[in-house]
This record gives sequence, structure tokens and C-alpha cells, in this order.
Amino acid sequence: MRRHFIWLSEGQKVTIVEQMDSIGQDVEILTLANFRELFDEYGIETKTDTRVEELVSGALIALKKGNRERFEADNIILALGFEPEPQAGEPFSGLAKRCSIVGDARVVGKLMGAIHSGFAAGFYL
Ligand SMILES: Cc1cc2nc3c(=O)[nH]c(=O)nc-3n(C[C@H](O)[C@H](O)[C@H](O)COP(=O)(O)OP(=O)(O)OC[C@H]3O[C@@H](n4cnc5c(N)ncnc54)[C@H](O)[C@@H]3O)c2cc1C
Repeated sequence: MRRHFIWLSEGQKVTIVEQMDSIGQDVEILTLANFRELFDEYGIETKTDTRVEELVSGALIALKKGNRERFEADNIILALGFEPEPQAGEPFSGLAKRCSIVGDARVVGKLMGAIHSGFAAGFYL
């Protein structure tokens, strides 16, 4: 991980734009503390409560409390999350007595949730 930060720090200014009021809300606390330390060390800025609205040539447009903010950028990396797809199992219904949708297809979450929902589906067969 440190190698990535060193790469980022080589003449690049990095800004993280996050719509929530803090970053990494679902990240385990020690990992998050480690990230924050690295952000400080490498001057990585975080903009919270800021929602990405639009990408235009050479810039990202975001809304913070109703005000538009423009972030000039050479590179933009989008990591915007996932949506579940519970209807993905529809083609299979009718092929068996029971069809269960598990893991991220049912609710986007973490590994443990996916493992548990897979276990439950198998257990009740
Ligand atoms: C970048 C990233 C980092 C993450 N980090 C963590 C973490 O640190 N800790 C944590 O607990 N969780 C983490 N997660 C979440 C975790 O990976 C997921 O919650 C978990 O993998 C969901 O399991 P799943 O079996 O539902 O789906 P997946 O793991 O996505 O498995 C679905 C599989 O189905 C395959 N597939 C899709 N369509 C078809 C098809 N038509 N035919 C055949 N195969 C198909 C896919 O290739 C994939 O292999 C992370 C997720 C991402 C994206």
C-alpha cells in the first residue's frame, strides 16, 4: 500500500471527493487510522459532504451544500459503489423448487455477509 502512496506523492496532488460526512465509514477502525496517517503524510486532501455531479473535460464538478465546486484534474478515478441485482435470479426461477439470491446480488455488503447468505441458502435446501 505504501508503494501506491509514494507513487501518488511524486508530483501529484490527490483529492478524495466523498458524498458522506466522513470517509471510510465501513472501514475497520485501525485500517482507517492507518489510512488517515498516510493521507496526512502524503498531503492527500479529503472533501466530504461533496457529491460528484458531472465530469467535464479536465475537471470534476461536485455539489457541496448546494454550491458547485470544480476540481481541475489530469486523472479522475471513479470508485462509486455497487447496486444489488435481486432480479438476476428470475431466469432461474421455475427450474427448481427453490431459488435464493445471495451475496452482493441480494444486498451489496462484505465477504462475511455474502458467506452467511450463501450458507443459509445451502442450509435450507
Ligand atoms: C474493490 C473491492 C474491495 C472489497 N474489499 C473487501 C474487504 O476488504 N472485506 C470484505 O469483507 N469485503 C470486501 N469487498 C466486498 C466483497 O468482495 C463482496 O461483498 C463479496 O465478494 C460478495 O460475494 P459474492 O459471492 O456475492 O459476489 P462476487 O465475489 O462478486 O462473486 C460473483 C462471481 O460470479 C461471477 N459471475 C458473474 N456473472 C457470471 C455469469 N454470468 N456466469 C458465471 N459467473 C459469473 C463473477 O465473475 C464473480 O466471480 C470488496 C469489494 C470490492 C469490489
